[in-house]
Amino acid sequence: MRAVVYDKPFSITVKEVEKPKILHPDDIVVKVTTSCICGSDLHMYEGRTAAEAGIIFGHENMGIVDEVGSGVTLLKKGDRVVMPFNVGCGRCLNCEEGNSAFCTLVNPGSAGGYVAMGPFAGGQAEYLRVPFADFNALLLPPGTDHEEDFVLLADIFPTGWHGVQLSGFRPGESIAVFGAGPVGLLAAYSAVLRGASEVYVVDRVPERLAKAKEMRCTPIDFGASDPVEQILELRGGSVARYLV
Ligand SMILES: [Zn+2]
Ligand SMILES: [Zn+2]
Repeated sequence: MRAVVYDKPFSITVKEVEKPKILHPDDIVVKVTTSCICGSDLHMYEGRTAAEAGIIFGHENMGIVDEVGSGVTLLKKGDRVVMPFNVGCGRCLNCEEGNSAFCTLVNPGSAGGYVAMGPFAGGQAEYLRVPFADFNALLLPPGTDHEEDFVLLADIFPTGWHGVQLSGFRPGESIAVFGAGPVGLLAAYSAVLRGASEVYVVDRVPERLAKAKEMRCTPIDFGASDPVEQILELRGGSVARYLV
């Protein structure tokens, strides 16, 4: 199959590699239909990580289940699924307590495992092996609708949502999001969905600020003046909760 393979900093190649197989009864193999390019790919591409030559890029993946291991109970061939970028076993103490990014089983000697960054191949490829598939593959409605929306569940939307969670936000409060890239915009959108009274989105790229406005947020251009002063002025001096 073809895959996007990292060679060395500033060098990646689409090349023929071996198609992944079921290696464990809890695995599935997915035929990839959509895989995103993330800012984190640039960290690897630019040589800012410990990524080793030969790793397949792509940690935001969705597709159709193609092969199913004998231990998988919740999925079947033909199901449409999206995979979060971090891999957990679903069974260790950390996973059971909801801290699956610190799974103690999937990456021996370390805590947590990441698609395309930990010990697992990525999905900028024709096929992807998903370990502990009942835990790591989210079943989607059948069909081909909303492909570009559902793939955001692999990283960007839950990452933005979780950022709002970590800020300590409570419904009814106001919040400021600094940085309106895809994660920042979806953090702002998460705050809207969670009942924020005002959401201030700070950036200086006009298209990003326009998108924030479309989402009923208040755009703040930090290129114009101090963004904190702008927000304080809009609020008559009272603070919002800040999310960086
Ligand atoms: Zn990502
Ligand atoms: Zn675990």
